[in-house]
Parts: sequence; C-alpha cells; structure tokens
Amino acid sequence: TTQKSVTVIGLGPMGRAMVSAYLDAGYDVTVFNRTASRADELVARGATRAESAEQAIRANELTVLSLTDYDAMYALLEPATAALAGRVLVNLSSDTPDRAREAAEWAAAHGAQHLTGGVSVPPSGIGNPDAYTYYSGPKDAFAQHEATLEVLTRADYKGEDPGLGALYYQLQMDMFWTGLTSWLHALAVARANGITAEELLPYATDVLGTMPNFFAFYTPRIDAGEIVGDVERLSMAVASIDHVVHTTKAAGVDPALPAAVLDAFRRGADAGHADDSLTSLVDVFAKNGF
Ligand code: NDP
Repeated sequence: TTQKSVTVIGLGPMGRAMVSAYLDAGYDVTVFNRTASRADELVARGATRAESAEQAIRANELTVLSLTDYDAMYALLEPATAALAGRVLVNLSSDTPDRAREAAEWAAAHGAQHLTGGVSVPPSGIGNPDAYTYYSGPKDAFAQHEATLEVLTRADYKGEDPGLGALYYQLQMDMFWTGLTSWLHALAVARANGITAEELLPYATDVLGTMPNFFAFYTPRIDAGEIVGDVERLSMAVASIDHVVHTTKAAGVDPALPAAVLDAFRRGADAGHADDSLTSLVDVFAKNGF
C-alpha cells in the first residue's frame, strides 16, 4: 500500500504534538501510552490505539518514541523485544550520549535499528518549518525514513555515532539553561532594587541578542587556537564579574551563580591567562574535568 504510516509511543505533551502533526499530514498513526487515557483525544481524531507496546511496534516498520528518558523506553520495550526484529526505533526522548550508544547496541541485539534524536523545540514548535531535530545512527535507516521524520521538524543528521544526536542536544541545553538562568538571576537583582521584569526586558533582549556577534568573531580564533588578549583580557573579566558578585550580595540575592563564574575566571587567570582572551577558558574548562 502507499498509505503512509507510523507508530508513536509516549503521549506526553511532545508525543501528543507529534501524533497531531502526523494526523494533519494524513498518516495512519498507531499510538501507545502507559496511561491509556492520554490517547483518547487522538483516537477520536483518527489514531489507532494499540493495546500493548508490542502491538504498537508490530503495527509499523517505524516507531517514534517520545518518553521522559531512556529508562522509560526499557520499561515499555523490554517486555516487547519479540516484536523488534526488522524495526526502526526513532528515539526522541532526551538522555545522555552514552545512554544513546547503549540503546543502539540493545536495539541491534534484538534485530532493530535505533536512531537517536534530540528535538530542539517545545511541543508548540512541532510542525514548524523553522524547527529542527538532531539525528544520528545508521545512515540508511535515516535516509529511508527522512520524509516521515520531516513531518515533525527539519531533520539535521549529524552522523553514524548514535551518541551524536544526544550530544548536540546536550550542548544546546548547556547553553540554553545557563543563558536563561543568567536572565533569571539578573531579574532577582533588578527586582530587589525595584526594577521590574518589564523595565529590564529591552536590555535583556539587547545583551543576550548580541551573543551571536561574539560567537562569529571568536569562532575562527578558537578553531585556530588563538587566545590573544587584543580585544579583551581575562583580568578585566575577573574584575567585572567580581563587581556583579558584590552588587548581588548588596541586593541580598543569592550570589552562587556569578560566584561560580568568578571562580572559573580566577582559575583561568591563575593558570597564566590573565593577559589572554576570555576564550582561553575553553581550554581551562577542558583541563579541569573530573
Ligand atoms: P513527559 O515527561 O511529559 O512525557 C513522558 C512520556 O513518557 C509519557 O508518555 C509517560 O507516560 C512516559 N513515561 C515516563 N516514564 C515512564 C515509564 N517508567 N514507563 C512508561 N512510560 C513512561 O515529556 P514530554 O512529552 O514533555 O517530552 C518527551 C521527551 O521530549 C523528553 O525526553 C523531553 O526531554 C523531550 N523534549 C521535550 C521538550 C518539551 O518542551 N516538552 C523539548 C525538547 C525535548 P505516562 O503518560 O503514562 O506518564
């Protein structure tokens, strides 16, 4: 038959948005969720409810998983491994690169292929042409199902290593959480001084909006290993963030976040980079791992 079809397991906010996008695109969609009632609305719209994870996997060659983490996948699929041979699992649950590599081996041991995915947008972004998802794993399986995956978001294939899709996602989260939290912290200091979020909004937008200019300027230097302090020096950054720590304390606000930044800057300066660029911290971070 030429009818397009797919299975989706996991009907949290993300999985439900995905099923909805597939229904809108005219797919036959088989769904399964631990809490069966989460499927009701989608079944009313035309999705087919599977009675078990095993039945859901048997229904289609391609199964999209949208679960809290990889443990949830094992909880659902360990009892369903008899159905896995010849199937392709697209795991859009977020977890670590190592967990993704383990899962690829686990799937292969049951005769299935595993594609790792990292969705870069919230549920409201599913079906939006600007949204993208990182993928990695067997290239043939990806190519074969690319059109189906692109119903959800643009598909950005990063390579065969099953960890890569998860790694790019974690890099994104590293920047996202730290960047967002810097705004929340500044808001606490602002409000302690009687400045509202509304009043800070244009400045927050401006400061964080200039970041791409810094990335563009420093990226070729970083890739070339150049840390020359011709534009700014780490010693200046130490003094600057120290002022932020003091301003935070004076406002009676928790200083842990800027204090952690101050600590990193000081360690860079102590390692001999006081007169080098702030970007010398990339190597300082790398050398201070656990
Ligand atoms: P939820 O945590 O809300 O959805 C979780 C799904 O996992 C539900 O179907 C839930 O079933 C199921 N589940 C959890 N634990 C188990 C278990 N032990 N056994 C069986 N099923 C289990 O997540 P979202 O829908 O928000 O997101 C799904 C994935 O997408 C997550 O990995 C998330 O990190 C990622 N993501 C989410 C974004 C977002 O903005 N929401 C953005 C980008 C990525 P039940 O209904 O029975 O509880």
